[in-house]
Amino acid sequence: MSAPGQEHEHVSVERAAVEGACSECGESQLRRYPVLSEGGWYRVVKCESCLHSESREPDPVGPVVLASVVLV
Ligand SMILES: [Zn+2]
Repeated sequence: MSAPGQEHEHVSVERAAVEGACSECGESQLRRYPVLSEGGWYRVVKCESCLHSESREPDPVGPVVLASVVLV
């Protein structure tokens, strides 16, 4: 019973491609995206091939995407 054109409703942020290869499997499938966890927003770089977390750092600002939604 969902409205048409809402197939992406569960995806709230863009996953940006990151240059470089995964240190675990060597695939160039790294993606960077913000995640919200217990300590607030984090910016993670994760391999889409083996799901290895290449890096994970606090991002107090959070994703710009959500900020613009709030302003609307
Ligand atoms: Zn990998």
